[in-house]
Amino acid sequence: MAELKLSESRDLTRIERIGAHSHIRGLGLDSALEPRAVSEGMVGQTAARKAAGVILQMIKDGKIAGRAVLLAGQPGTGKTAIAMGMAKSLGLETPFAMISGSEIFSLEMSKTEALMQAFRKAIGVRIKEETEIIEGEVVEVQIDRPAVAGAASKTGKLTLKTTEMETVYDLGAKMIEALGKEKVQSGDVIAIDKASGKITKLGRSFSRSRDYDAMGPQVKFVQCPDGELQKRKEVVHCVTLHEIDVINSRTQGFLALFTGDTGEIRAEVREQIDTKVAEWREEGKADIVPGVLFIDEVHMLDIECFSFLNRALENEMAPILVVATNRGITTIRGTNYKSPHGIPIDLLDRLLIITTQPYTKDEIRKIVDIRCQEEEVETSEEAKALLTHIGVETSLRYAINLITAASLACQRRKGKLVESEDITRVYNLFLDVKRSTQYLMEYQNQYMF
Ligand code: ATP
Repeated sequence: MAELKLSESRDLTRIERIGAHSHIRGLGLDSALEPRAVSEGMVGQTAARKAAGVILQMIKDGKIAGRAVLLAGQPGTGKTAIAMGMAKSLGLETPFAMISGSEIFSLEMSKTEALMQAFRKAIGVRIKEETEIIEGEVVEVQIDRPAVAGAASKTGKLTLKTTEMETVYDLGAKMIEALGKEKVQSGDVIAIDKASGKITKLGRSFSRSRDYDAMGPQVKFVQCPDGELQKRKEVVHCVTLHEIDVINSRTQGFLALFTGDTGEIRAEVREQIDTKVAEWREEGKADIVPGVLFIDEVHMLDIECFSFLNRALENEMAPILVVATNRGITTIRGTNYKSPHGIPIDLLDRLLIITTQPYTKDEIRKIVDIRCQEEEVETSEEAKALLTHIGVETSLRYAINLITAASLACQRRKGKLVESEDITRVYNLFLDVKRSTQYLMEYQNQYMF
């Protein structure tokens, strides 16, 4: 492996983001970490969200190394939603990886390899690279004007379009707005700092002429403080360690990222990658972005997996580990011992435990509302009330799954608005767990033969 390959992965991140939890944009807390009733797609579950917010604060203060979070609560009480909300609150670039305890036993790889891959999916690498600015390209720069007589300092972000090769940036009205109307005029000279991309107003090199006025507000002669013209810009790629692993593993092409069929990745490949990433970090070319790894049904893991988790948490690059379970005291798989949540005491000791509570009817109604909006399915009030009722009687997840199906039923009858009849139709087509179990019990004799 001479050079690490990165370029191929540029557009591959965040493929899994859309889906059941796409409406979750954060934990919905205010600046004092108090949960707002409905915010950032989150509804209710206020005590758990508040606790998750405190943990986020600890993460931001760097005080959670080697620890992890356990979300304990019944199925369908929003444990996944909260874990995702935590990742989103940490920033857009924060990777979120999700695996279910039972899943790792069915993959065609060892349990610990599956866990290792999950860990590395939750560790982001922000890589900075310098490239040439080309004509006509739109670039984003940071405006930074020191205070001058009569005007306060201004900072802001601005998108520029290069109009003439390297020398002229057509800043347009936005520049005027960002730097203060009265202060920037045609012919002003500004500097762009090569390293940071910061713009500073240097002064004027031209007297104002009608020509410039006719061209509208423009700033000419973009130059760096050392006199060189700005030709290069910094671009930032965000990839996960797992993506770098897959792209560089000789047997797997990057297409394996789409199929998920990555197989086992050799330890040497990972070692080389870790060394390279450490070098980049030292040279200031890369930062590590620890993400959130969510392991659902954690009681399904066995003792070997738990000792892997214990060790992995010690790594300085470790993501925030959030595990979830709905079990009480149960056997730790692979042993004859029982323990709370089926988790060994030494790991349990490191966990901050948050409990989730079942939803009220009102909360289910609000989540139904949000999901209809998110899926862009226009739904009548009556149909939403019916969905809420179904959510209370069966499960929230089942009710939400009916939204897409009901919208297809509505399209078939060429309706514009999903009505109760569409909900009833799909309710009769697809069984929920309760009815399915009942059906199986009634007809079990026929199934046996
Ligand atoms: P769990 O992990 O506890 O089983 P979940 O987060 O997977 O719960 P589901 O039962 O799958 O919850 O929830 C169905 C849908 O409701 C999902 O789209 C989920 O994002 C959403 N949801 C669950 N809890 C909340 C919440 N507190 N606020 C907003 N949406 C929620």
